[in-house]
Amino acid sequence: MPGSWDLIVIGGGTAGLGAAAAGVFAGARVLLVSEGEIGGECTFTGCVPSKTLIEAAARGTAFPAAMAAVRHAVAAIAATETPEVLAREGIEVLRGRAVFTSPREVSVDGRVLPARGFVVATGSRPSAPPVPGLSETGYLTNETIFGLGELPARLAVLGGGPAGCELAQAFARLGSQVTVIEAAPRLLPAADPEASRVVAEVAGAPATKRRGQAVEAMFLPDSSTSGAIEDGCHERRRRPTVLHHVHNAVLANRDLQTAALSPGWSP
Ligand SMILES: Cc1cc2nc3c(=O)[nH]c(=O)nc-3n(C[C@H](O)[C@H](O)[C@H](O)COP(=O)(O)OP(=O)(O)OC[C@H]3O[C@@H](n4cnc5c(N)ncnc54)[C@H](O)[C@@H]3O)c2cc1C
Repeated sequence: MPGSWDLIVIGGGTAGLGAAAAGVFAGARVLLVSEGEIGGECTFTGCVPSKTLIEAAARGTAFPAAMAAVRHAVAAIAATETPEVLAREGIEVLRGRAVFTSPREVSVDGRVLPARGFVVATGSRPSAPPVPGLSETGYLTNETIFGLGELPARLAVLGGGPAGCELAQAFARLGSQVTVIEAAPRLLPAADPEASRVVAEVAGAPATKRRGQAVEAMFLPDSSTSGAIEDGCHERRRRPTVLHHVHNAVLANRDLQTAALSPGWSP
């Protein structure tokens, strides 16, 4: 893989794959550098597994078969995004973490790679909200929930955005007792109110929605088999409610993955 590139794309998720394909289409010599699996969140921990799980749950599929369908769908999509497939499309692929060493070079595992231009498509990662005790109690994210071996009896979804609503719907249909906790007064707070209304209706029972409440504390339980969330209301008149859960999904916050791209050097 000698020489220099017209374009180095950093990040092999949906955005990076699209940028790399556009570069090739424009006649550029393109290198795609990705630390994570090619396909990124959409293929492995986002769109593909969540839509597959929702669809399987809607058909009444039992949990083990639904999870098998998820694994099958992910593998089928991933097979279309391998370095070999991309090479045939004119995209060179290098696995590793890229770090900028100058405006025209990145270093990947000690190899310095020059290019005329770069696309940063490093995506985001789930980040836990600042709830005391949360890290000690443990939680699930979209990166771990599709690897569950057993259906959780109860599930708290922290955040009523699109991903939270999708997972809530899927696991409620599969048989979990699901509670969505959203600090805003409606689900999908960034969407049109009409969209919120439709999603709230579709999700409906059996998923419980606790809106207008912010999670303030999570405590380690006395029992080793259950966690607890204490969600305080903004209304001081109401007493905080305690919800007990075996597993807890944390989906509300995301962190961009750009912080480590240029240590010691500023663009
Ligand atoms: C449950 C769920 C369902 C979703 N459903 C949908 C949906 O139906 N439709 C939709 O449009 N979106 C959906 N999304 C959102 C979608 O998954 C993301 O918006 C999309 O995958 C982000 O793609 P990306 O390329 O920006 O980032 P990512 O897919 O996160 O890819 C970034 C890649 O960059 C790599 N990387 C990071 N830093 C470096 C570095 N320094 N050097 C090299 N590589 C690096 C990472 O390892 C990673 O592989 C869903 C999300 C979730 C959680």
